[in-house]
Amino acid sequence: MSRPGIRLVCLDIDGTLTDGVLGPPIPGTVEAVRRIRKGLPVRLVTNTTSVPHPALWEDLKRKGFTEDPQELVTPATVASRVLPGRGHARGILLAEPGAREDFGWFREDPKGTAVLLATEGHSLGIADLQPAFRRLFDGAAFYALQRNRYFRKRGELVTDLGPVAAFLTYASGREAENLGKPSTLLFDSVAEDAGVRRSEIVMVGDDAEFDVSASVALGMTGILVRTGKFRPEDAARFTPRPSAVLDSVADLPGWLGT
Ligand SMILES: [Mg+2]
Repeated sequence: MSRPGIRLVCLDIDGTLTDGVLGPPIPGTVEAVRRIRKGLPVRLVTNTTSVPHPALWEDLKRKGFTEDPQELVTPATVASRVLPGRGHARGILLAEPGAREDFGWFREDPKGTAVLLATEGHSLGIADLQPAFRRLFDGAAFYALQRNRYFRKRGELVTDLGPVAAFLTYASGREAENLGKPSTLLFDSVAEDAGVRRSEIVMVGDDAEFDVSASVALGMTGILVRTGKFRPEDAARFTPRPSAVLDSVADLPGWLGT
C-alpha cells in the first residue's frame, strides 16, 4: 500500500540521486529508485542545461537509475513539448555548444518569434547577447530553460541562467517564462504525460527553495533530502515548509510505503 493521494514520484538528480551532474550515486539511491518504481511511476527531473538529454540519460542508465528515456525530464524536453504548439519554435537560441543537439526542433532565425535562453552564458560575451536583446525589444516571446541563481561547478559557486535572463529582462523589459523547476509549465507537462493531476505528484530534492517549497506552493507534496547542497537551516528557511525532511532518497520507499 503506497501513501494515499500520490501517483507520481519526481526525483531531482544532482545532489539527490548523484553527487554532482554525471557524478557517483549517493549511497542507497539506486536500490531505492528500483523499489519505488515497483509501486509508482518515476520521473527524474533536473534543471541541468550543460549536458544534453541523450548523454545524461545514458549516464543514469549505466548507473541503474532508469531504463526508459521518457523518465528523464529536462527543461529542454519541456521546451520541445511546449514551444512548437505556441508557434515559438523559431528565433534566437542561446545554448551551450555541447548541448545544442537538444534543440534540433528549433529553427534559428534572427527574425523568429522567440528567444530561447539555454545557457548560463559563461562562454558568451555581452556582444553575443545583443541580437537577443533587439529581438525581445521588438516583441519576441522570451523563454529561459530555468531561472536558478547559482550552482556548484568544480567546487565553486558560479552564476546560473537566472542572472542572464535578468540581464536581458532589465534591458528589454520582457520577462522570461521559466521552462524548468519549479514552473507550472514543467510540472503540468510532466503531469499530463503521466496521466496524473499536479496535486498527485511528490517532488523530492536537495534544493529547499525550488525543489521543495515551490512545489508545495503549487499544491504538490515536497520532500527535502539532507544530501547535496542541503544545509541544516534549509528545513525552516522557506515557506511553505517541506511536507517531510528525509536523510536521503534511501529513506523514500519507507516514507512512500512502496
Ligand atoms: Mg539538486
